Amino acid sequence: MSQATEARDSGQRDERNTEFDLIVIGGGSGGLAGAFRAAEHGARVALLEPSLLGGTCVNVGCVPKKAMWLAADIAGKLRMAQSLGFSIDADPKRPCALDWPTFIVHRQRYIANIHESYRRRLDASGIAVLPMRAQLLDATTVECENGARLSAPRILIATGGRVVKPQIPGAELGTTSDDFFQWCAAPGRVAIVGAGYIAVELAGVLQALGSQVELFVRGQRLLEAFDAELTAQLAEDYRQNGVRLHFGHAVAALEADGARVRLRGADGSLSEAFDQVLFATGRRPNSERIGLDRVGVTLDGRGHIVVDELHATNVANIHAVGDVTPNAQLTPVAIAAARRLMDRVYGGREGRLDQNDIPTVVFAHPPIGRVGLTEDEARARHGDNLHIYRAGFRPMLYALAESPQRSLFKLVCVGQERRVVGIHLLGEAADEMLQGFAVALKRGITLDDLRDTVAIHPTSAEEVVLMR
Ligand code: FAD
Ligand code: NDP
Repeated sequence: MSQATEARDSGQRDERNTEFDLIVIGGGSGGLAGAFRAAEHGARVALLEPSLLGGTCVNVGCVPKKAMWLAADIAGKLRMAQSLGFSIDADPKRPCALDWPTFIVHRQRYIANIHESYRRRLDASGIAVLPMRAQLLDATTVECENGARLSAPRILIATGGRVVKPQIPGAELGTTSDDFFQWCAAPGRVAIVGAGYIAVELAGVLQALGSQVELFVRGQRLLEAFDAELTAQLAEDYRQNGVRLHFGHAVAALEADGARVRLRGADGSLSEAFDQVLFATGRRPNSERIGLDRVGVTLDGRGHIVVDELHATNVANIHAVGDVTPNAQLTPVAIAAARRLMDRVYGGREGRLDQNDIPTVVFAHPPIGRVGLTEDEARARHGDNLHIYRAGFRPMLYALAESPQRSLFKLVCVGQERRVVGIHLLGEAADEMLQGFAVALKRGITLDDLRDTVAIHPTSAEEVVLMR
């Protein structure tokens, strides 16, 4: 029996049996990556996770979201196929409709395989897994829910974040992305509040899967962190897909209307009734009730654990990675931070995560991605010494099917040598295209480097090297 199993099963506070090199609190993207990498370097690791292995990404984030996005993508392609002459056997009243329960079986089986693979790897790595919450007692001691105490000279906090609803009257009538992953059918009419990653992604998915979606945005645009020209085109693509967009519409309350829900605007207006209202209004770090105040770990104004560029907190040998820190809330960022940290601490390798030029994609319909600076950011940093290149077009399949969906690609270049400082892609397959171009941008390429590269024809990607 492992030390940790002993501690968990006995429930006794026996500190002699609980000596580890590293205790990891949280078994999501960052925690697992840190635990595996530390164990590879020979560290004795204990990992505490009260819920499902894989955390947000695997269970209520990237993975089930991408599965639903793929289903939505197929639905769109089936509709295009019909318009192109394919005969698709389907209920004529609900053409190309998805049977959610069937699809969910596939989705959840995929997720169960990830859990299983984690379990196997944890066993093989000799990592002690304790299925319970933990909190810090002091800088080297952690107390588990059952009272057992573990000690280690180093602690990694990777407790992630959680979805929050706005504090408005009737908020309990609304749902969140966590609830979305419990749904077994597309609701008839859905209102989504927000304009960030999750609002845009779920709006696209639900509209493609048969819901009538309306997006309530308190600002004037989608995806504030992305290039404004591309998000304007995305808004247009959404309108063409049937999504109704309400900009400048702050929601002040939700009101029940039988089994349905209406949105009361800050201006007093009352919306039509919806079958579901989904809040996609941001997430909050899980930094409460883990003993941070007792140990004196500093938080920022939004409750994130403050870390330096080596992911160290202000308390010696307590580190933090992932969504509980102010870093970008992306799975690869949590993983990369954890791996670099463990390589440094246990592998003697220098290296830190470069927080600049992190590529990111919103799985919208069509997807939109960015790496480097938007035009506005580049202008703020480099003044008018900018050169902007654009390619707007209809991808071949959409043109064949006479679908209005358009792609828009944009390069932001700086100086006489036209160094590429921003690549922005909106359109079919942008999600798969961006990774390679992100490598190029990080290597400091110029526009001429792109132009010197022979195009692959006919593709959407060739537009990036053909821009003039
Ligand atoms: P988490 O994965 O949240 O893991 C934290 C873990 O800590 C949890 O399992 C929790 O149970 C555990 N925990 C909490 N408190 C304690 C405690 N006291 N003791 C022990 N354990 C504790 N990112 C992408 O890169 N691409 C995407 O496509 C993408 N899609 C997303 C879609 C949605 C709907 C959401 C919500 C997020 C998405 N993200 C995506 C973001 C991504 O999921 C997160 O950035 C990532 O999961 C963060 O990893 P983490 O390890 O910091 O936290
Ligand atoms: P975001 O921070 O991306 O967006 C939150 C949105 O909610 C913003 O549009 C914000 O508007 C709006 N908002 C906040 N409060 C209110 C309110 N009270 N009323 C109305 N609107 C409000 O958060 P998400 O929840 O969408 O996603 C969380 C994070 O998870 C993302 O930032 C991303 O890092 C990660 N993620 C990554 C994905 C990916 O990589 N594909 C997919 C999904 C999530 P305003 O701008 O006005 O503040």
